[in-house]
Amino acid sequence: MDSQFNTTKIKSRRALRVVFTTNKHAVRLWSATDIDLIPTDEENEHSFLKKIGPDILNESCSFKLIEERLTSKRFHKKKSSTLMLDQTVFAGLGNYLRSEILFDAKIHPDDRPFDLDKTRITQWAKSIKNISQLAYKTGGFTVSKSLADRNKENGEPRRSYRHAVFMRHQYECLNCKDRIERKWYGKRKVDYCPSCQIQRGKIKPTK
Ligand SMILES: [Zn+2]
Repeated sequence: MDSQFNTTKIKSRRALRVVFTTNKHAVRLWSATDIDLIPTDEENEHSFLKKIGPDILNESCSFKLIEERLTSKRFHKKKSSTLMLDQTVFAGLGNYLRSEILFDAKIHPDDRPFDLDKTRITQWAKSIKNISQLAYKTGGFTVSKSLADRNKENGEPRRSYRHAVFMRHQYECLNCKDRIERKWYGKRKVDYCPSCQIQRGKIKPTK
């Protein structure tokens, strides 16, 4: 497994489970509980992979496909905060992306696709794709460089200046200057702006 280029000194005390190396690079997987190595042509038969949704970063995952999944019978009555982390809906979204996508699309974390009009769903689909791509290209930034620089100049630490709302709990919203708030779903936080992300489900007349 070791190549002559794989010379990184390992300082971590976590258990190293798998290493993939090429002549120039190494990929290390740490502290994983279950590992399966499977041939490509058997991927679709794997019990976990069979269930996961489309990979947001893949070209085949279009805005249309994202909209269709959000508004499908299977998912349209689930909260946006649930949908954005459920890997059976979309694969690849993590916790900071959930807050950042919902802020970009101006969607309240308790609203469901069912509560939203077509324009809002379309914006949501765009935010899912665009924010994920931006984060992928920039190594985890979900705002433009100029915005990140401005947050940094205002004294924010790295964990918050990279984002619009995530870890910016108690800071001012970049859009409206109101205070970013935090909600917990299970043990995972969503940071959001209560003024930009108004709850639409509540203001609809009950049927
Ligand atoms: Zn705001």
